[in-house]
Amino acid sequence: MILRFKILCECYFQIEKTQKKLEMVDILADTLINAKADEIGKISLLTIGKIYPDFLGIELMLAEKMAIRALALATGMSDKSVTKMLEELGDLGKTAHNLLENKPQSTLLAFTNQKEETEYDVLEIWTKLDSIAQMTGEGSSDKKIRTLSGLISKISPLEARYIIRIVCGQLRLGVASQLLLEALSKAKTGSRENKNLLERANNRCADIGFVAETLYSGGLEEVRKIEVKLFSPIRVMLAQRVSSSNEMLERFNGRCSLEYKYDGLRVQIHKKGTNVKLFSRRPENVTNQFPDVIKFINEAAIEDEFIVEGEIVAFDRIRNKILSFQLVAQRKRKHDIEQKTSEIPVRVYLFDTLFCFDESKLDMDYLERRKLLDEIIRKTDNIQFSHQTIASTADEIESFFHQALEESCEGIMGKSVSEGSKYQAGARGWNWVKYKADYVDKLSDAFDLVILGADYGKGKRAGKFGSFLLGCYNPDENLFQTFTWVATGFSDENLDELHRDLKPLIRDKPKEVHSVVESNVWFDPKVVIEVSGAEITVSQMHTCSRGFLEKETDGLALRFPRFTGKFVSDRPPEQATSSEEIRTIYLNQRNK
Ligand code: ATP
Repeated sequence: MILRFKILCECYFQIEKTQKKLEMVDILADTLINAKADEIGKISLLTIGKIYPDFLGIELMLAEKMAIRALALATGMSDKSVTKMLEELGDLGKTAHNLLENKPQSTLLAFTNQKEETEYDVLEIWTKLDSIAQMTGEGSSDKKIRTLSGLISKISPLEARYIIRIVCGQLRLGVASQLLLEALSKAKTGSRENKNLLERANNRCADIGFVAETLYSGGLEEVRKIEVKLFSPIRVMLAQRVSSSNEMLERFNGRCSLEYKYDGLRVQIHKKGTNVKLFSRRPENVTNQFPDVIKFINEAAIEDEFIVEGEIVAFDRIRNKILSFQLVAQRKRKHDIEQKTSEIPVRVYLFDTLFCFDESKLDMDYLERRKLLDEIIRKTDNIQFSHQTIASTADEIESFFHQALEESCEGIMGKSVSEGSKYQAGARGWNWVKYKADYVDKLSDAFDLVILGADYGKGKRAGKFGSFLLGCYNPDENLFQTFTWVATGFSDENLDELHRDLKPLIRDKPKEVHSVVESNVWFDPKVVIEVSGAEITVSQMHTCSRGFLEKETDGLALRFPRFTGKFVSDRPPEQATSSEEIRTIYLNQRNK
């Protein structure tokens, strides 16, 4: 039997009531166990609040105002009364639930001409949401509102609670991909342990729906066979950090490869014939933003098919100089592309080969992957390979590091050259480390932190958020842990921008946030900013690294935090600085 959407919503409701991760996995697995192979992909996507994988760029994301209009239309209330209830309840889902539950049946029926609620299955709901997402062009907002209100008036209050959240990108169940993979593993194989295999597959294709479908139709055997494929982005490999050349050498047992660390935008380039697509590290499809890079790649390609990775930097061809990150960041805009392309010329520095000659190269050792670049792409003025050398002394590392800084790079990358130095898709492992200028002569460096909460300002900042509670990410527990409050370094424009971006994200305290301090408001943990600080100290006020320090209640905190001016929009919150990274920096700092 096909899964009814209502059953899925009952499961979501149970999940909402618990804070415990294992319980959430069990509740979800109990429902997923009944799903069929042809619906599990879509169920999986809906459960993490999506209808397609990110890289396809098809999103619902209706503005809150549109959802309010749809609710008003469906219930015969005014927009004003819906807005008022939303302000009281602080959540669109609860508002929809409440409105429909307390509405006399006769009113609803009069509006819809329906005799009773329609029982939709999950696939029907997915198809309706898809049709809303695909509406574009003139009059599409109105059409979306009408379709949504038509749907809401036919479903139960509980279903409306989740539909409205999904269309506005606010599902907020606390179910991230990791938890979903665990539940899928338990539902289909009876054990959570097989999650690692699912994760491996998900890292290779960044498409959790496809992984789920493969598991349900072909079992673990087929999941094992999921390999890298062209035009489906691979989750990027990330680096740990070191704060000295000696530490780098120690990490790599005395020998490693060094590369310049360019300060730009990471890009994964997929090519087959003249079809070239570019993916960011999120991974999002950014092909349209870089028509010049597509041309450069087509000019430089020797082979017809490949996946390579590199960094796009802003480049001044007259002075032969790499320009700042702030400039290249402007190339991410989705409008004025032609103008920005001519205003801000770029160059690409490639550093890895992930697929070519018809097969994945992820399991190949790093130096071999790097050598493949020469076979598949010729260097041109616009496509270069990252500057690289092999080092076995601290002096060599230091000299390469200073050379990199002189050439406008932000530091260097150290990469393992030993056997087994494969590309660890989706992981921040120790096969790659970064050593940046920020790390030298400072007790601590810049962190990419997630805004979890805020307090309203006083005086000049009254009515706006004045200080922000920031956190790091703990991937093992799928939790955001608090690390510091920050109130300095913001210009008035920064504060306005943050107020505008954060207001729609206000909600009850999210269960994926672990905090022992209170804040005036809590947010969906989505916005990442860069913050510098003077020192990391032990504190009972913050939860970063709790459980790894001397006392149960000890956490780590940042002293003298300051916003650096950088909004880190190319990074999902799960790729913010991790609690483990902060702990490593703290231990290094203590050893010094
Ligand atoms: P950061 O803000 O320090 O770049 P990050 O979280 O974006 O951190 P890390 O994996 O920690 O990413 O650091 C490596 C990043 O540096 C890559 O994601 C890539 O964007 C960039 N980079 C620049 N040059 C290189 C290179 N030669 N090899 C690998 N990555 C490089």
